[in-house]
Amino acid sequence: MTLRQRAAVPITLRGLRKRYGEVRALDDVDLDVRSGEFLTLLGPSGSGKTTLLMVLAGFIRPDQGRLLFGDDEVTRLPPHQRDIGMVFQNYALFPHMDVAANIAYPLKLRGIGGAEQQRRVEAALQTVQLAGYGARRIDQLSGGQRQRVALARAIVFEPRIVLMDEPLSALDKQLRERMQIELRQLHEQLGTTTIYVTHDQREALTMSDRVAVVNGGRIVQLDTPRALYEQPANRFVAEFIGESSLLPVQRDGDVWRCAGQAIAHSGAAPSGARACLLLRPERVRLLGAEGGEGLNVLPAQVSGIVYQGDSFLLQARLADGHAISLRGIAGAAVLDSLPAPAAAVRLGFAQADTVLLPDET
Ligand code: ADP
Ligand code: MG
Repeated sequence: MTLRQRAAVPITLRGLRKRYGEVRALDDVDLDVRSGEFLTLLGPSGSGKTTLLMVLAGFIRPDQGRLLFGDDEVTRLPPHQRDIGMVFQNYALFPHMDVAANIAYPLKLRGIGGAEQQRRVEAALQTVQLAGYGARRIDQLSGGQRQRVALARAIVFEPRIVLMDEPLSALDKQLRERMQIELRQLHEQLGTTTIYVTHDQREALTMSDRVAVVNGGRIVQLDTPRALYEQPANRFVAEFIGESSLLPVQRDGDVWRCAGQAIAHSGAAPSGARACLLLRPERVRLLGAEGGEGLNVLPAQVSGIVYQGDSFLLQARLADGHAISLRGIAGAAVLDSLPAPAAAVRLGFAQADTVLLPDET
C-alpha cells in the first residue's frame, strides 16, 4: 500500500518582487527548480525565505513577476488549485481531531471520501512510519511524531510539489538529524519537486540536490552543496556556509601574496589589487620544520588549541597579524604531538583549496 508517484514538474520564477514598505522581502527573484529536485532555500532570518515559499504556495500575491509550474502560469491561481503539499514550522495540526482525521483533511477538501480516503490515509501513515497511529490524539504524540503527521497530511493527496518551511526546527538535534535523512529518503521515494527552507547550513548541505543561498530578498548563489562549499561566490556565502579563515591578499606583479608569501590559487582571480583568500580549516595542514612541497606554506604562531571531542581547532596568527584556523581529526597520537601555545609553526594548503574572493571591504 503506497502513495502513487506523480509526474514531477519543474518550477520557474521570473522577476518576483514583494515589498513591505521599504523592505524588499523579494527583490526580483529568478529561479529554475528542476523537475523532481530537492532544492533548499538557505539564508539568515529575515532574508525572504518564507515570503518566497508563500508566493509559491499562493498565500502571498507578488507585486510583480511570474510563476510557472511546468508550462502553466500559476501566478494568480489560488492556493487550493496549485496541487502543493505544505509543511509548516509549527505543524499547524488540528488539535481536536485524531491523527487520521488530520491526514484526511486535504482529501475531504478535494472531495475524496470513503474507501479511497481510507486507503490513502493508511498509505500516508505507512509512508511516514506511523502505521497504527490513526486513532491517536495529537496531544498524545511526541514532537517528532507530530512532524510526521504534518508530513503525511502534506503528501496524502499526492501533490506534484512539496514545500517545507523549517519543518525540523522544533526538534532536538538528534531527532532533527535522523529526520533529515528520512525526509531525503521520502523525497527519493515520492519523486516530487521539493522546496525546503532552512537557516541551518549543515541541514541544507545534508539534504539538498541544490541550495539557493538567500540574502536580502535575493538569491546570491545557486549551486550543489559541494560547489557552494568549495567555490562560494562571495564572502557572504563563504562565511554563512561552514567555517572559514578569510585573509587579505595583495597582487604583486604576477603573483598574489598573503602575509608576504606568494600563493598559488585555483579558479579565476578577482580583478583589482586586493582580494580575500578563503581557507577552510579542515583543508589546512600542520607541517613540520621541513616538507610541504607542492603546497602553499604560511609561517604562523599558535595562539590557541581547542579540543572538541571528535576534532580539534588550532588557531594561529600570520606574520601580518591575521588569524588563521586549522581543524584536524582528534586521534590520540595527533593530540599528543600538537604544538604548544606561542610555538612557531608552518601551515600548508593545496592550490586546489585556495580560493580568492572579491575584496568587499
Ligand atoms: P525569513 O523567512 O527568511 O526569515 P521572511 O520572508 O519571513 O524571512 O521576511 C522577509 C522580510 O520581510 C523581513 O524583513 C520581514 O520582516 C519582512 N516581512 C515579512 N512579512 C511581512 C509582513 N507581513 N509585513 C511586513 N513585513 C514583512
Ligand atoms: Mg521564515
